[in-house]
Amino acid sequence: MKGFAMLGIGKTGWIEKERPKCGPLDAIVKPLALSPCTSDIHTVWEGALGERHDMILGHEGCGVVDEVGELVKDFKVGDRVMVAAITPDWSSLEAQGGYPMHSNGMLAGWKFSNFKDGVFGEYFHVNEADANLAFLPDSITPEEACMLSDMVPTGFHGVELADVQFGDTVLVNGIGPVGLMGVAGANLRGASRIICVGTRPACREAAKKYGATDFISYKEGPIDEQVMKLTNNQGVDKVIVAGGGVESFDAMIKSLKPGGKIGNVNYLGSGDFVTIPTQAV
Ligand SMILES: [Zn+2]
Repeated sequence: MKGFAMLGIGKTGWIEKERPKCGPLDAIVKPLALSPCTSDIHTVWEGALGERHDMILGHEGCGVVDEVGELVKDFKVGDRVMVAAITPDWSSLEAQGGYPMHSNGMLAGWKFSNFKDGVFGEYFHVNEADANLAFLPDSITPEEACMLSDMVPTGFHGVELADVQFGDTVLVNGIGPVGLMGVAGANLRGASRIICVGTRPACREAAKKYGATDFISYKEGPIDEQVMKLTNNQGVDKVIVAGGGVESFDAMIKSLKPGGKIGNVNYLGSGDFVTIPTQAV
């Protein structure tokens, strides 16, 4: 089969590979629609995961089931399905402990275009199909379904990691697609105030629709100082990090109230360290 692959750091191209093999709990899926992700860009052009050779890219998509293993109960050939970017090993201790994305190792729940071939092929392999596939209803188009692979669940996961509660004041750093879903998720969880860091007018308009109440710009001075000004020097209860580089992490910590929490879903692909200030103020 054909696949669009990372040939090495800084190199992409079409390659030929064997059709993936289906284990007893697995499924083989034929894509209906796929979308590229900035993670693919980081992986190829920044070498953020390290060297990879002839690895098919992509982790966002939906498709039609082409084959199922003999132990798969809920899906059959011909089912339209959406596939999450993260496909954990659900029996691992990490998944049972509430961190499926780290099943069997740090970030090892993210398999597509990381530890195995991704979805940009004529077929792709899904481990533990009963747990890692979802039926795609006719009311959701394949293009829309692609947004449910990564953008929506990753933004919502940031909200879960930050443990956003009813009435919280929340800071969302970055209002690209994932940050916007962080705003939507914080709003669904009952945040009373959602302060967004971002400048692009189209993103600000979208953020308002999803529930943003205030905006600040990193171009107008330190983020934490602006947050303190907006909150009468109280800071925020929770922070969702969905953008910015390693250098902006300390401002997130300085923006928090005592006991506050940060949910990071940012790739942080370049730079080896984040800075944690010894004093919050
Ligand atoms: Zn993605």
